[in-house]
Amino acid sequence: MKKVVLITGASRGIGAATAVLCAKAGWDIVVNYTQNKGAADALCDQLHQLGAKTLCIQADVGDESQILKMFSQIDSHFGALHGLVNNAGVVDMTSKVEDMSWSRLERMMRINVIGSIYCAKEAIKRMSPLHAGVGGSIVNLSSVAAKIGGPGQYVDYAASKGAIDSFTIGLSKELATQNIRVNAVRPGIIDTEIHASGGQPNRAKDSSSMVPMQRPGTAEEVGKAILWLLSEESSYTTGSVLDVSGGR
Ligand code: NAP
Repeated sequence: MKKVVLITGASRGIGAATAVLCAKAGWDIVVNYTQNKGAADALCDQLHQLGAKTLCIQADVGDESQILKMFSQIDSHFGALHGLVNNAGVVDMTSKVEDMSWSRLERMMRINVIGSIYCAKEAIKRMSPLHAGVGGSIVNLSSVAAKIGGPGQYVDYAASKGAIDSFTIGLSKELATQNIRVNAVRPGIIDTEIHASGGQPNRAKDSSSMVPMQRPGTAEEVGKAILWLLSEESSYTTGSVLDVSGGR
């Protein structure tokens, strides 16, 4: 039986690139998205052509009931889960902290932090031998912003990714004897549509001079690191946070 991975926020960007790499590596894939059904459906067609079974689920990871419904759909369709990529994440318009609204902060933490922790909680119930699972691998998406803090632009986003780093370390130790590994990748500046959603569509290309390698990364370059952490190739790696940032 092939292994099944849930990739949240997989309709585009790093999630979609990771899904393609996972399909090529022999995984079956649950593609989660919120709004972009056309892109999610097109990705599922591509994954089928690569030999993967897929399940496409619209669910907001910032909403408890939608997460629970998504996992119950996975139970009905696949009956097992071996990998989770907590990839869905959002930014907001650049702002100083003194100008940030409560609703902005609440959305950022709800989607980026609580959603990742809650998806992991539900994944553990399917993966852990204590719940009749066979183990698994969880990969969380952090950001180099967790280290540099994003002053004057997105300190809230950076703080949400700092929380992801701590969550990764803690959960890895909690699950170390249950055959579930937990790791994170910390992308630097990657050329995806996330920058447009923060009001800076050209940010990736315009930021090249801030990167030691003098270029933004690609979604596929991050996906390769995620796939390695998902796979048995990293069987003795847990609690690690891997920078994929061109040296930044
Ligand atoms: P992206 O291009 O903006 O794609 C975001 C994906 O997440 C989309 O598939 C979107 O679905 C989905 N999504 C957004 N909100 C969601 C929600 N509430 N529930 C479920 N899905 C949701 O982002 P990306 O650049 O690939 O980033 C992926 C991850 O890497 C994020 O966690 C991000 O913080 C992290 N990261 C990115 C960079 C970078 O430079 N790109 C750097 C560091 C870290 P729809 O298409 O349906 O809207």
